[in-house]
Parts: sequence; structure tokens; C-alpha cells
Amino acid sequence: MLERGEVANSWRRERWDSLRLLTPNWQSRLPGLRYEGPDPDGYMTAGEVTEFIERFAKVSGAPVRVGVNVTSVRRVGDGYHVTTSRGEIHARAVVIASGACNQPAVPPFSDAVPASVEQLTPFGYHGPGQLPDGGVLVVGASATGVQLAAELRQSGRPVILSVGEHVRLPRMYRGRDVLWWMDASGVWDQRYDEVEDLTRARRLPSPQLVGTPERTTLDLNALASMGVELVGRWAAVRAGRALFSGGLRNMFSLADLKMERLLDTFDEWAKTDGYDAEAGPPERFAPTRVPESARLQLDLRSGEIRAVVWATGFRPDYGWLDVPVVDAKGHLNHEGGVVDSPGLYALGLPVLRRRRSTFMCGIEDDAREVIGHLARSLAERIRS
Ligand SMILES: Cc1cc2nc3c(=O)[nH]c(=O)nc-3n(C[C@H](O)[C@H](O)[C@H](O)COP(=O)(O)OP(=O)(O)OC[C@H]3O[C@@H](n4cnc5c(N)ncnc54)[C@H](O)[C@@H]3O)c2cc1C
Repeated sequence: MLERGEVANSWRRERWDSLRLLTPNWQSRLPGLRYEGPDPDGYMTAGEVTEFIERFAKVSGAPVRVGVNVTSVRRVGDGYHVTTSRGEIHARAVVIASGACNQPAVPPFSDAVPASVEQLTPFGYHGPGQLPDGGVLVVGASATGVQLAAELRQSGRPVILSVGEHVRLPRMYRGRDVLWWMDASGVWDQRYDEVEDLTRARRLPSPQLVGTPERTTLDLNALASMGVELVGRWAAVRAGRALFSGGLRNMFSLADLKMERLLDTFDEWAKTDGYDAEAGPPERFAPTRVPESARLQLDLRSGEIRAVVWATGFRPDYGWLDVPVVDAKGHLNHEGGVVDSPGLYALGLPVLRRRRSTFMCGIEDDAREVIGHLARSLAERIRS
């Protein structure tokens, strides 16, 4: 196992200070290791996640070589030639487990933002104290965006949140964590080959969730009540002005509708599985409030905002992979982790083999199946 940094590198270096997992502690499980502390329903800090993964590396006896950067993987003969910062390796099979979130995805028009406005991504953002005084425009209303907008607003700054497609969820539903429902109802077990639109499912933004001791719901209504101003998707910069799209009402109704459908699925499961008597009554939540007049433009030179925080998602980095298996959008072509090149595999990608693959608790089943394929194909090659 080659790691360019240290064990749990992304959790050490690429997370902001206040981040906690949005999955509860009991869901943080890796093969043979699960949370056994006093707060199974709490949410780990990034530091605790680092310790958890470090412990897993020790307990599992994983043969990790740290400080080894892979700079190229090429297909040679019946295997792969791997070039690293510490020498060359020939391998019959390679598993790509380099992560789905290696770099922040920032739209190209960020180049047109005037230099007087500071720009940050979640990789460079640590906390509100590092930003210049004044207003902040947070772009993106998925898990990262809603969390950073709330933190910046709580620090006393005026905050504008630019909202694109998003996934709305309550933190708690019928007395249980909403992710408990995902798990128990089997929604997270849906397999990749049963998902209707797999490409879409794999690109779906993260849900609007935050892990706080108070189990707060952090949807757009909660943010608006805190005084965060909501605007539409940031579409372009023209003559120093940010242009936002109109359709907030449609976007909000779509997210509300999808949330209701998911809650219907939970209720249906509870009824058929006999859980109804144990859970609280079904709940429905107020629709997302549409601002009376969402502005369509913002003069970036006026001084109203001094910083932009891009919470527009993350993308993988396969710059080191010299095998033609990456599509034009930079995503790996694979079928449940089996890449279209003999002996090449992937793990740790969204909806890799089931919906839960996007989260840490998805790795165990995925790894078993992907490594099963790898072992069988190596055995066949040795036999032939
Ligand atoms: C902001 C954020 C919040 C998240 N919150 C949750 C959550 O609440 N619950 C949850 O279950 N999941 C969460 N996730 C997803 C979580 O990151 C993954 O579940 C988990 O960390 C993925 O582990 P991984 O090992 O697949 O990828 P990573 O953690 O990205 O690890 C990949 C490793 O590969 C190394 N690497 C990359 N390229 C090379 C190379 N060329 N050579 C050598 N080494 C290389 C990197 O240094 C890194 O250490 C979150 C992700 C992000 C970005």
C-alpha cells in the first residue's frame, strides 16, 4: 500500500477545523474495527477520524509504505509498471484507492473574480478568523457549503449563499438519526446495477447535514433564519458582477419533493417491517421558504463581500494514471470497481457497488467483492 503522505492523510491535511463527520459514530466501521466509545450517536471530529484510521492501520497490520508518491502507472506486459517517488514497482494488479475528493472543483469563471475579493476552497479554509473582515459569498449548498455558511454567519459576518442542486434532509426523523433510516430501511444497500441513473447517482451532491452534539438540522430554512441570504446558482461573472440564476423556487420544490419521497420510503419500510410501533409518528417538514426577491447580481467590486468560499464539490485526481480509463470529465470508467483494463481495480468511489459506498461504512462489502474478483482473476492467470 503506497501513501504519498501519512496514514489518514486527507483527514489530517484537507479538512477545516470545525468539521465533524456527518455519519454517527456507530456507523464508522471498518473491517474488524468499530466505534466502541461512550457516544455511539455522536459525530467524530476530523482528529478523531484520523485516530480511528490510524488504529485501523495498526489493528489490520496493513503493509503501508508512507511518503511514497505514485507518479505514473502504465500497462506493461500482463501487469503495470508503477513509478513512485521512491523507485519503480512491477505489479500484476493495481487497486486505485486514491480517493474521490483529491481536489476542490472550482468553476473556471473564478478567474474573472476581481483580485480585491479573496477566494478560498475547503482545502485552504480552516475557520472564519482567517478571512478578511466583511461579507462572504459561499458557493454551493451541500454539506460543505451549508456548514461553512452557518459557521461564518455565527462569527458575525454577512453571508450570502449561492444555491444550486442540493439534497435536503432533516438530521432527525421519527426520533432517529436520518442516516439510521438510510441504513435500516435498506436504501443504502441498493446496488449500483439496480440504480436507475447510475451516472447521476454517482455525481449527486452530499446531503445538507452537519454532525453537532445538538443534532441540529441545517437546511436552507435554518440558514435563512440565521440571517444567511439565499441566491441562485452562480452562473457567470460579467464586468465584475456575479450573475445568479433565477429558478430558486423550482430548485427548492424539487429538493423538498425528493426529501418527501425518501421519507415515504422510510415510512413504508417501517410499516412493513413492524417498526411503526417503536418509532415516533411520521413527520413532514415545512417547504423551503423562497426569498421574496432573490437578487440576480452582485457587484464584486463594491466591497459588499470581501471573500468567496467555493464549496462547489471535489473531484478525484488521476493525473498519475497513464492508462486510458478516465473519461472527459475526469472520472474513472469502471463497473463496480472493476476498471476496463485487466488487473486494474478501484475502491472508495461514490456508489461504487452500492449507495453506502460513498461513506466509510461502505468499504467493507465493496472491498470483499472487488478483492474477490481480483483474487479470482489472478488465480486464473496463474493457472493458464
Ligand atoms: C469534506 C468531507 C467530509 C466527509 N464526511 C464523511 C462522513 O461524515 N462520513 C463518511 O463516511 N465519509 C465522509 N467523507 C468521505 C470520506 O472521505 C471517505 O469516506 C474516506 O475518507 C475515503 O477514504 P479513501 O481512503 O477512499 O480516500 P482518501 O481519504 O481521499 O484517501 C486517499 C489517499 O490516497 C493518497 N493518494 C492519492 N493520490 C496518491 C498518489 N498518486 N500516490 C500516493 N498516494 C496517493 C492520499 O494522500 C490519501 O491519503 C467525507 C469526505 C469529505 C471530502
